[in-house]
Amino acid sequence: MTMVGGSTQLEALLWGPCLFCKTTEGPFSAAEHVFPESLGNKVYILPKGVVCDPCNHGVLAGLDAELLGFDPVMMLRATLGIRTKAGKLPEAKFPNLRVRRREDGVVTIHAPGRHKVARLRPDGLEMTPRGTKKLTVDRCRRLARAFYKIGLELLYLQRGQAFVLGAQFDELREIVRGRVPFHGYLLVAFGGDIRSQVGARWEEMTGHGHVTTFFDVDICSFRVMFDLEWHHLLPPMREEAERQGWSVLEF
Ligand SMILES: [Zn+2]
Repeated sequence: MTMVGGSTQLEALLWGPCLFCKTTEGPFSAAEHVFPESLGNKVYILPKGVVCDPCNHGVLAGLDAELLGFDPVMMLRATLGIRTKAGKLPEAKFPNLRVRRREDGVVTIHAPGRHKVARLRPDGLEMTPRGTKKLTVDRCRRLARAFYKIGLELLYLQRGQAFVLGAQFDELREIVRGRVPFHGYLLVAFGGDIRSQVGARWEEMTGHGHVTTFFDVDICSFRVMFDLEWHHLLPPMREEAERQGWSVLEF
């Protein structure tokens, strides 16, 4: 056995099972970004060996694309000038307007139609883009899967591999991979400073006699709350969220 062969075999022992499909075949040649790189994430990264390439470059890449194409996220990326993975400044394209930040920092708004799409208010410019895609139940589910992926990966960073590979997350894995039907909710709102930063807070909660982890994810001031295991909003939580101005997406 050569040294190279020995080292490869050792790596194979250390890598996997994959966080999402639990297989060990791999290959495991890439790190996995918890938040997409195109959101400027350089902090929340799972090392090589945690997520297999077929999951990373397949289903998870599709969920990242869904998140990046979600209207509020697309608008924030364009106005803040958060560069794509390839280093380009993104453009937000809506049916009635296009927005991008130029290299010199100026944000340009192009509105080809005759309808008014922006107005100046005391607190800034209000733009009213027409949605690119309908927020259908299926689309909400794909967005929820993108957020569940983020949640499970954050738990990996905090609690380690053995915890997140536990059977209590097996159904969630199947949901993220799009293998099983599911119902759930997302709470969404704008809140906090608009800045080129992603982050999250989370805490364990008990209800129904079961435990779940409740997440509050912040993408450049666009906030999304969800839980990993119940996928169900308790009535008092719903009331409190609505009172605070959160929108409830249910699917
Ligand atoms: Zn996998």
